[in-house]
Amino acid sequence: MGKLDVSIPEVSIREIRLGSITGYQGSAKGLVNESGCGGLKNRDRKFQQCAGCSISKAACMVTLIQDAAVIIHGPVGCASCLHEFNFTYYVNAKPRRGIDNPTQRKIFSTNLKETDTVYGGANKLAKAIREVNERTNASAIFVLSSCASAIIGDDIESIANEAEEEIGKPVVAIYCEGFRSTVWTTGFDAGYHGIVRKLVKPPVKKDNGLINVINFWGSDVFTKWFEPFGVKPNLITPYSTVEGLAHASEATATVQICPTLGSYLGAALEQEYGVPEIRTAAPYGIIQTDRWFRELGKLLHKEDVAEKIIKEKKEKYLPKIEELRKRLKGVRAYVTAGSAHGHALLNIVGDLGMEAVGASVFHHDPTYDGGDGAADLLERRVRDYGDVPNYNVCAKQEFEFVNVLNRIRPDILLARHGGITLWAAKLGIPSLLVEDEQANMGYEGLISYGEKIVETLENTEFIENLSKHASNPYTEWWMNEQPDTFLKEAKTEVI
Ligand code: SF4
Repeated sequence: MGKLDVSIPEVSIREIRLGSITGYQGSAKGLVNESGCGGLKNRDRKFQQCAGCSISKAACMVTLIQDAAVIIHGPVGCASCLHEFNFTYYVNAKPRRGIDNPTQRKIFSTNLKETDTVYGGANKLAKAIREVNERTNASAIFVLSSCASAIIGDDIESIANEAEEEIGKPVVAIYCEGFRSTVWTTGFDAGYHGIVRKLVKPPVKKDNGLINVINFWGSDVFTKWFEPFGVKPNLITPYSTVEGLAHASEATATVQICPTLGSYLGAALEQEYGVPEIRTAAPYGIIQTDRWFRELGKLLHKEDVAEKIIKEKKEKYLPKIEELRKRLKGVRAYVTAGSAHGHALLNIVGDLGMEAVGASVFHHDPTYDGGDGAADLLERRVRDYGDVPNYNVCAKQEFEFVNVLNRIRPDILLARHGGITLWAAKLGIPSLLVEDEQANMGYEGLISYGEKIVETLENTEFIENLSKHASNPYTEWWMNEQPDTFLKEAKTEVI
């Protein structure tokens, strides 16, 4: 992979850096093969129903830092859905992270108006930074760009730098306006780019007992898993502190729960501060869990500890997993998720003896910033458990997703994002949403996820009743068309 340039204000977008795509229809194996040979081509759409915005991805990584404040430099509408992170912060703080007194998230908007787009919003932003500093006394302030501030060309970086000098604390410009990238997970990269540029400090002293864990806000399984190795997790960035992020450079290694999320940060910490990334994908499914513990052991020079853990886990959990396999054998499962977590769920489907009949993921990264093929969970999935037919990269286009789901009619839909399960329910298909991605990891995760699947399949009365009364907004014409009707032919070049 090319070197990451962390000296410039804007992050390079995923389409350019990784060759990421948002349109594909085929099989998982076909996608892996095309990705591997560097020949993956995007398929644009002639029609698009909706899209995501990088702002929300950048925001979910910076608004959840305990002592940070965030300003969206744009019309108030661009910040209108970010209150959901306040909810996320509160509900997960105590049960998943043991935080007794979660504080309200500090999210603001400069509320750009039409006149600001004519005369510029620079003064408004400078004033907002001062006011946010006085009101919140946050340890760092992030300023997120929007389409409007990007179009009028406000120099957010210079305003942030001047404010930083004035108030004496980090003010970080994040360039994440929606039109910057068709792959909205570029927003994760934009948030991390700002954190690496302005918050992470050069190491004072290496800490052999600390491992960075790039994650969302799921259950902390790592503290317990790391204990036998004598190390502790530095969970970043949700629930971290500005001070904790500054010391990420001192950790002995970095692991990620999902390369779709942490690709950029993991690679940047390794490139800038020599913090090595674990050279394998996250521990979803038995084979990958064993690989992950072995890699961790190798990295920490504690291979014997890893072997002992694997042996104990096999003895303790395999009998129960075998029971679940018997119960779930032959169940036809369809998966939908952002990207890499979909690959993780497909591993789980394989391990629990179910048949993976298809998947819809929102985008696809043919490679990751660390440049190591071992991080590619889809490649591993195909190799370890076999191909997955009907593999779509759907860019969150629900009309494509519903069309496919209606054709395939799986026994169960496994989803990662809220709102999507409704579509399956309307069609009378039992569906399971598990948004705590860490709860599905390892041997323990296979069991808890498997039990939830069994429970879902045994309680279908509500879904059956709902489907009898639900109406579908899509016409019969569309449901009978091929799902890739609006996908153009692949371009000769990605981008
Ligand atoms: S930044 Fe652009 S795409 Fe994102 S919410 Fe605002 S207007 Fe919409």
